[in-house]
Amino acid sequence: MTLLTVTGLHKSFGGVVAARDVTFTVERGEMLAIIGPNGAGKSTVFNMVGGQLKADRGKVLLDGQDITHASPQARFRRGVGRTFQVAQTFLSMSTVENVQMALISARRQSGRLWSPARERHRDGAMELLAKVGMAEAADIPCSALAYGDVKRVELAVALAGAPKLLLMDEPTAGMAPRERAALMDLTASIAASQGIGILFTEHDMDVVFGHAARVLVLLRGQIIAAGSPDEIRRDPQVRRAYLGDDHALERPKGLAPA
Ligand code: ADP
Ligand code: MG
Repeated sequence: MTLLTVTGLHKSFGGVVAARDVTFTVERGEMLAIIGPNGAGKSTVFNMVGGQLKADRGKVLLDGQDITHASPQARFRRGVGRTFQVAQTFLSMSTVENVQMALISARRQSGRLWSPARERHRDGAMELLAKVGMAEAADIPCSALAYGDVKRVELAVALAGAPKLLLMDEPTAGMAPRERAALMDLTASIAASQGIGILFTEHDMDVVFGHAARVLVLLRGQIIAAGSPDEIRRDPQVRRAYLGDDHALERPKGLAPA
């Protein structure tokens, strides 16, 4: 069964239509990128999938179950996870403690209260750190980690919730290009091996075209194209949307002028 089915999502803020009839699916183990210029509605769509924003219209199904009106906590319990920015990890705690806290909180949210002792989650936390290649930094305070390593810890923290679907809104923001590719390689291999669907937004077109199985292009709240990286790269409408001068847009790397 399809992991995520989004149908006809609509959201306006006053006069601004941030999402218009947005329809797409994500399969298990699939990495789907949403791209588009600033203000296109990417975060709005994310937040309607995560539950932080209420849709005006439309439906969100996870594993065939309607979660359109579920709270973010209820969605989390059903398997919708997301990565958060650095501010959300506790810089004064060690790497492993951050992941332990995430495990404790995930267990609490799912009502599994029987293992309150923090120490008990150390093994689980170490396993997650190993998955993201950070086991050796377990006892280092997060404040002492390089930025790219903090991002790996954030990924481990998100995995602690055992997500079926992981939402990553600009996961590589602020990272150096080589680190970006490494983080997304890691994400892709975890997604594939665990069958986790990944929905991500990204400004770096090298990362998008190098990692997404499929790409959705949003423009002014509407999906103007959807397809494989190759199809998207060649799509004339996409090229116009990014390269035309009727929008004040940055030109993303990787899209040569037509
Ligand atoms: P993106 O993530 O693609 O940059 P957003 O989803 O953040 O785009 O924004 C889409 C549009 O909706 C923009 O015009 C933005 O100004 C508007 N918008 C987003 N969130 C709000 C909000 N909470 N209140 C009012 N307008 C908003
Ligand atoms: Mg955004």
